[in-house]
Amino acid sequence: AASAEQNDVVVIGGGPGGYVAAIKAAQMGLKTTCIEKRGALGGTCLNVGCIPSKALLHSSHMYHEAKHAFPSHGVKFSQLEIDLPAMMAQKDKAVSGLTRGIEGLFKKNKVNYVKGFGKFVSASEVSVNTLEGENTVVRGKNIIIATGSDVKSLPGVAIDEKKIVSSTGALSLSEIPKKLVVIGAGYIGLEMGSVWGRLGSEVTVVEFAPDIVPTMDGEVRKQFQRMLEKQKMKFMLKTKVVGVDTSVDGVKLTVEPAAGGEQSTLEADVVLVSAGRVPFTAGLGLETIGVQIDKAGRILVDHHFMTNVKGVYAIGDVIPGPMLAHKAEEDGVACVEFIAGKEGHVDYDMVPGVVYTHPEVASVGKTEEQVKALGVAYQVGKFPFMANSRAKAIDDAEGLVKILAEKETDKILGVHIMAPNAGELIHEAVLALQYGAASEDIARTCHAHPTMSEAVKEAAMATYDKPIHM
Ligand code: FAD
Repeated sequence: AASAEQNDVVVIGGGPGGYVAAIKAAQMGLKTTCIEKRGALGGTCLNVGCIPSKALLHSSHMYHEAKHAFPSHGVKFSQLEIDLPAMMAQKDKAVSGLTRGIEGLFKKNKVNYVKGFGKFVSASEVSVNTLEGENTVVRGKNIIIATGSDVKSLPGVAIDEKKIVSSTGALSLSEIPKKLVVIGAGYIGLEMGSVWGRLGSEVTVVEFAPDIVPTMDGEVRKQFQRMLEKQKMKFMLKTKVVGVDTSVDGVKLTVEPAAGGEQSTLEADVVLVSAGRVPFTAGLGLETIGVQIDKAGRILVDHHFMTNVKGVYAIGDVIPGPMLAHKAEEDGVACVEFIAGKEGHVDYDMVPGVVYTHPEVASVGKTEEQVKALGVAYQVGKFPFMANSRAKAIDDAEGLVKILAEKETDKILGVHIMAPNAGELIHEAVLALQYGAASEDIARTCHAHPTMSEAVKEAAMATYDKPIHM
């Protein structure tokens, strides 16, 4: 329970930013309380984001593989069925096990956990309406805001979590929709579209911009889109949704070209709105203590993650930077290190990004478009998985590794990988970038055979010289 005792650190929000900051603070000997309103730790990521989506991506991938890939490996079924409730139960079990795990870590590290909604009453006091219906005040010398983000709504498209769902609803549909329309071709839309597409939905993705996942390297993106189209995902790019009718059976969407023009209609059983996420600070009382936010509602912080109010910090999705769980965690650790009077550091240019479709797409550093815009002379090394022995052995060889390095120094500027396990393969590149490595450093590092990682080595060889197997 909360106490009137003074804390060194109070964290509002128990997501990957907040809970990691709280554990780190306690490990550094600071008296720490974490306030979380949802009744479970782990935030968006663990409860309705990264973890449940990866559980469903894996389950749906297994079904899809059993149906489409197993026969060519000589594994045959007489009957293959989807048990959706069982699939959902396995996802829920993963989530609840992990949230309880964080509670265990709080106990182990002596983080005081207060379940309730926190609101600033001063720069050192947070009043909490607890889930048990009580009111208490938690005091802290330092307060970290880690309240995360929420689904961005689209004007005129009211989310009811039944016919028109956010990612949260899309993670627990009770039936497989025949037709699913996804509004927004960011990674969340593509991942959830993949889940339901693999389970049998006809998926159409409507995107206002001319491209899917705008942050992706253009060449990789093209190949990625082609892969998704091969999996029967349809794309309507440069298209906007101008009307939604739910009075009919299912949903009728009216769309028109982004630049204006002739309207057409689309039918769906379920519509997923995944047009981005917005910082969540509702009811937090930021105005009471005068914390500055930008036009997008993000809390502004300095290099120490401190807001304009002394002793009040902010981390994770609620501040500018990539809205990713691992970035929130890095923020949390660095912020606490600063509070403890030590040095902290997060380099947002080295935060990897992964789209967990099949194949996965992972990247770190600059895209070719960004390197061009910088005006740096550069070299590109590429290696396709079609020429990688492990990928051929397992018959899962779509994709490539692409490395961009500075021409003069061979220093790696960016790495982009499309492969079944790109999200794991990318970390060699993240480390290389972090160490300021040259592509030759990767190329001259011994890689085990036969592994997909050898494609990274070969792409590195191709950057400054020639690969062996191409
Ligand atoms: P959050 O995780 O949003 O946590 C904030 C917490 O604060 C919440 O639990 C909220 O209840 C609590 N809170 C808010 N206000 C108050 C208050 N006043 N008092 C008390 N508690 C409060 N990222 C990845 O890196 N990889 C992925 O694969 C990935 N997949 C995703 C899939 C989906 C479907 C979604 C929606 C997101 C995904 N993300 C992924 C993004 C990731 O979830 C976020 O970047 C991450 O959760 C941000 O962490 P955070 O701690 O800043 O905020």
